[in-house]
Amino acid sequence: MNKDLIELDGAIGGGQILRSALSLSMITGKPFRIHNIRAKRSRPGLLRQHLTAVMAAAQISSAQVEGAQLGAQSLSFAPGAIRGGNHDFAIGTAGSCSLVLQTLLPALLRADQPSQVHISGGTHNPMAPPFEFLERAWLPLLKRMGAQVHIELLRHGFAPAGGGAIVLRVVPSQLSPLHLQAPGTIHGQQATALVADVPGHVAERELERVGKRLKWPEQALRGVWLDKQIGPGNVLLLEIACEHLTEVFSSFGQSRVRAEQVADQAVDQVREWLHSGAAVAEHLADQLLLPLAMAGSGSFSTPRMSEHLSSNMRVIERFLDVAIHAEQGATGNLHISLQQR
Ligand code: ATP
Repeated sequence: MNKDLIELDGAIGGGQILRSALSLSMITGKPFRIHNIRAKRSRPGLLRQHLTAVMAAAQISSAQVEGAQLGAQSLSFAPGAIRGGNHDFAIGTAGSCSLVLQTLLPALLRADQPSQVHISGGTHNPMAPPFEFLERAWLPLLKRMGAQVHIELLRHGFAPAGGGAIVLRVVPSQLSPLHLQAPGTIHGQQATALVADVPGHVAERELERVGKRLKWPEQALRGVWLDKQIGPGNVLLLEIACEHLTEVFSSFGQSRVRAEQVADQAVDQVREWLHSGAAVAEHLADQLLLPLAMAGSGSFSTPRMSEHLSSNMRVIERFLDVAIHAEQGATGNLHISLQQR
């Protein structure tokens, strides 16, 4: 048996354990084997989105992979050299393009040449970062750390239809540390209700509710009616631009869920974050960890520990020689800091 092989128990979290392991394996060159992939989920094992992430990672890093098939709960992955250039990956369902993109980006930053990656599938999925979150919240922070990255939305894709597409362009670049202790003063806010093949009043009611509850002026409320063929789909995006970062909160329309309730779900997230005074909310927290670990150090505050954050901490510490500390501050917020050992 290869004594350098990293053994992981996927049951400590969901698909993110696997995706982070793929990214970390590619950038360190360390092979891994994972068992119990998504073991506690209602449909355990690899779904199309996860399988696409594995195959895409294998393609860009010339990896040897064993056991990767739909439904598989264990696999092994041994990466080779990372290859930039042009790549095209189709999830084949409405599985999230964002999650596949996030798997590949760390490796492409360390590739031998610039790359252009086309990914098709879902671009606006519940329980995954919507395109606008990547574009306005997550990537600007990576750019500030030194990443030369650009993404473009070619076509929206909602679940269950899919059919969306994004393009990622990356110039290999080094990441430098980032410290975020507070968001700073707010200098802009924008609510966008995207609808496709859903009655137009849905967007209007969502926006009206946001305006009322957050006291945002009318010019901060925008409805976008997409081509019917893209639908059905509805997402509400609440963007808050601050001195040190931008946060994007989202909620998704569903049949039999009132537009006002959809608005409330997003508004509640905004209020909780604003009230906490923490630098980043739950989703940015777990998604910033790996780039900060690549940079060798960094810190941020966030309202609380999530399953994604704690399981990602554990996976990162298996591959990289970094110590990650989580400490509760006087305000109740969690202070996360990373240091190279
Ligand atoms: P499963 O949990 O079923 O295995 P999965 O593989 O689709 O699911 P997770 O492991 O749950 O994915 O990871 C989902 C990722 O998407 C996490 O990084 C989480 O922070 C992020 N995410 C979820 N919802 C949002 C949102 N509304 N905005 C931004 N990011 C989100």
